[in-house]
Amino acid sequence: MPELPEVETIKESMRKALDGAVIESAKVYNRSLRCPIPDVFENAVVGAKIIKFYRIAKYAVMELDNGYSVIWHFGMSGKIKINNERNPILEKHDHVVMNTTKGSLIYNDPRRFGVVTICQTENIFTNPLLCHLGLDPFDENLNVNYLKGKLREKKISIKQALLDQAIISGIGNIYASEALYLARISPLRESLTITQKELKDLIEAIREVLNKAIKAGGSTLHDYRKPDGDIGYFQLQHAVYGKEGQKCPNCLFPDKPCKGIQKLVQSGRSTYYCPHLQK
Ligand SMILES: [Zn+2]
Repeated sequence: MPELPEVETIKESMRKALDGAVIESAKVYNRSLRCPIPDVFENAVVGAKIIKFYRIAKYAVMELDNGYSVIWHFGMSGKIKINNERNPILEKHDHVVMNTTKGSLIYNDPRRFGVVTICQTENIFTNPLLCHLGLDPFDENLNVNYLKGKLREKKISIKQALLDQAIISGIGNIYASEALYLARISPLRESLTITQKELKDLIEAIREVLNKAIKAGGSTLHDYRKPDGDIGYFQLQHAVYGKEGQKCPNCLFPDKPCKGIQKLVQSGRSTYYCPHLQK
């Protein structure tokens, strides 16, 4: 599932390839994604110029010059393909194809949990998909006081709190584990018990792990014209995620007392951490 850094990379890829392009034609081959693609989609985009790309949490937004914006969410398996040719040969699961003056833009999604929709740009923040989201990890309003206020209402572990999109939007399972490891906070701690100092460290850690992954994505994605939703290279950057039983990168004497990276399951999601380092 693409997490925030992957969405940022996909958005940047689209921006580099297609900013300023005019959409000449659009065709939807399958409307049944997580939310059905609106019937007005094709008419709303054709003839418009693409003027801006940005990201809101794990959504990518493509703003057009006619008052509409296209919103994308990549679900479990959604990806964008950008092709130099107009009318490219279609592959299985290519659900939306737009031909532009700078090449074609294709949305491919085998499992169809993603979203491609359109809304009026002036109403974007009241769109049902976006209006309940908490602050983006990079939003300047995300600070210790904000988090304290949000966590006060919750009797859940800090790991679960990080996954709650109404608190911070855009952190997924991988980066929740990575940020807690970097901040030296146990994923099992009840979120109410996290101190101000720890919250400050945690916010910094969240931004650091996401920034690192965004940088890795940007530098690894050599050919921006073929952004691939299945971006496995972020694995290289992980300290703990998926590394059960491996040596903990920050414990100097990994045999005693650190037993290496442990895995546990919280609310059905895997968490990776070092019980020796994270208290
Ligand atoms: Zn350790």
